Formats: sequence, structure tokens, C-alpha cells
Amino acid sequence: MHIDRTTDGHVHTKYCHHAHGEMVDYVEAAIAAGLKRLIFLEHLESGINYFESTWLSEAEFALYRAEGERLREAYQGRIEIGLGVEVGYNPQRVAEILAFLKHHSWDRVGVSFHYYEIDGQHYNVVSRRKANLEPLGSHGVERVIADYFATLLEAVVTLPGTGLCHLDAVLRHHPEVHFTAAHQHRISEILQAMAAKGMTLEVNTSGFPHRGEQYPTQAILEEAAALGVPLVAGSDAHRPSEVGRYFERLG
Ligand SMILES: [Zn+2]
Ligand SMILES: [Zn+2]
Repeated sequence: MHIDRTTDGHVHTKYCHHAHGEMVDYVEAAIAAGLKRLIFLEHLESGINYFESTWLSEAEFALYRAEGERLREAYQGRIEIGLGVEVGYNPQRVAEILAFLKHHSWDRVGVSFHYYEIDGQHYNVVSRRKANLEPLGSHGVERVIADYFATLLEAVVTLPGTGLCHLDAVLRHHPEVHFTAAHQHRISEILQAMAAKGMTLEVNTSGFPHRGEQYPTQAILEEAAALGVPLVAGSDAHRPSEVGRYFERLG
């Protein structure tokens, strides 16, 4: 399996309110790590009813683009800088998301699904907080997982995504979660839809500190590769010191 270890294709910045550090610090960290290319992939969410904002406002996206473009110029010849967006899918807000994505051209559009709705309230399926895990658990682990994969498939088909992030992220911190053959089948369907659209699959190295392996599992990566889905590395850095983390352990 070929994974390009010279590009970190998924890092955040202070603009999303839960990551730390200036964009320039991420760029410097990428150069120090010997990377040839760094792609910022900032959070977009639409219509999410949650107790805090983990995404950028329109004004913050403008600052993000301006600073990214300034850095791209300033670091020309030293490192290639890309500007992208990690789109959190919300089936209720498709028109709004598509309008946002049309407004600018992005170097990468990563598709994600973080927020699951129960009675008008959203809960983060990737979170390890009780305030998310408990209501999602009582809603039904199996139901949430089934909806997660169905919604992710819809997102892959509907959005102009160039890649998919967090394929197996659903309820990752919930003790009752184990993927079954039925779940594997849903994953295969998503991979096939990605292959048809020419999308990449992210190999997210934030898995190493959590479970000693990248996300998603080796078996899923092998299936993706067999379908012709290119694998791309992303650290999902939320602080500069995490840029390019564990890339030496890939492939
Ligand atoms: Zn984040
Ligand atoms: Zn991310």
C-alpha cells in the first residue's frame, strides 16, 4: 500500500476554537518535520445546535484564507501550502453547504460527519465526553452506527468532496462499539462510492496515540487500496507539535 509520507493533508488552526497555535507555527512545524506539503483542513459545520462552536464562522473563514494565502506566498520554494475545508455533513443543510463550497476553490474538500441530531439537539459522535456518549448511547448504539454509515454514504454521493476523513470514527470512544459484518458491508459500499467519484481515503495518524494504530484499520485500508481508492496521510493536528505525527509508522 502506497501512502505519501511527505504531505500532511489534515491540520487545524486556532480559528476552529478547539485547536491551538498560529497557522505559521503549523507551517514551521511541517518544515521541521521534513514535509514537502501541508494542507490546512478547517472545520465547516452548518445548522448545528451544540453547546459550543467547533467550527469557523464566515468571518473566520475569510481570515483563514487570507492568512493561508499570505503564508503560501511567503513560504514559496520551502514548502507547498494548501487550503482546504473539512466539511461536516448535515443532511438538513445541503443547499447551504454546496453554496459555501462553490464560493471559493479549495485545494482539498474533506468529507466528515461529526454531529448527530436527536430531537433538535446535536451530539458529537467522535467525542469522548459523557455529555455526548450518554445521550447517543441511550438513543441506541446500533441505531447511531447505522445512521452514521448511511449519512456518510449520502455525504459522499452528494458533496463535491475530494476525500473522506474519519470513515470509522462513529462512537469510537463508546465501550459498546464493535463493528460487525453488517457494518463492514456499509463501509464497503462507502468505499465503492468513493472509488466511483475518484475520492481519496484519509489515513489518520491520530489513531496511534489512542490505540496504537492509524484510523481506519488496516483491513479497511487494504480494501480501499484494492478498489483503487488512493490513501492520503493526515495527522489531524490540533496543535503545531502534532504536525506529521507518527508518519514514520505508515506503510
Ligand atoms: Zn477538530
Ligand atoms: Zn479534523
